[in-house]
Amino acid sequence: MDTSNIILVGPPGAGKGTQAIMLREKLDALYISTGDLFRSHLSNETDLGKEAQKYMSAGELVPDALTINMLSQELEKKADDHGFILDGFPRNVVQADALSELLDRKDLSIDLVLFFNVPNDELVRRLSTRYTCKVCQAPQNINESEGNATPKCNLCEGELYQRSDDAPESIKRRLDVYDEETKPILNYYEEQNLLTEINSVGSVEEVFTRVEGALQ
Ligand SMILES: [Zn+2]
Repeated sequence: MDTSNIILVGPPGAGKGTQAIMLREKLDALYISTGDLFRSHLSNETDLGKEAQKYMSAGELVPDALTINMLSQELEKKADDHGFILDGFPRNVVQADALSELLDRKDLSIDLVLFFNVPNDELVRRLSTRYTCKVCQAPQNINESEGNATPKCNLCEGELYQRSDDAPESIKRRLDVYDEETKPILNYYEEQNLLTEINSVGSVEEVFTRVEGALQ
């Protein structure tokens, strides 16, 4: 399975990032997170990063074509005998089409789309108890039953805070956007027989066992 090309899809809070790291180690594939890719282009002030910055400074959405250019460059790093894992893209059907065109041009194809499925009420619970360390930025869940003593990071003992996009009204908005834009790509990939649903309720290890099963 080393040559598999895999796309990860799932709502915020589904634990996709953690599974991606485990999957990357197992498959020795090129891991591409579009979020990381953007941050790296911006901080390195590449031509594409500078172009993206113009849109962001103007408060506009970065055009898909620019993201596709970043992906195109990144895919050049892929070794011939290894696959890639794509996380964070596509987020809607237009982007899914653009990705298919890019992969066609590179003579690549998608082998598997893993959909990390978690019921909405569970997502709300996970996201609303998620805090972030002010010092090391590690996310962690605060169990309400542990009381409300000032929570500390279990890695560096830094102070924890709740990110504004983990506040209840933001969570609802993020899940609404996901439902409207991202859910249609599940049908898109299902029609191509590429979609495999992973029940993502359970421990990290339990979920990863299901991911491994899907790779068989
Ligand atoms: Zn910390």
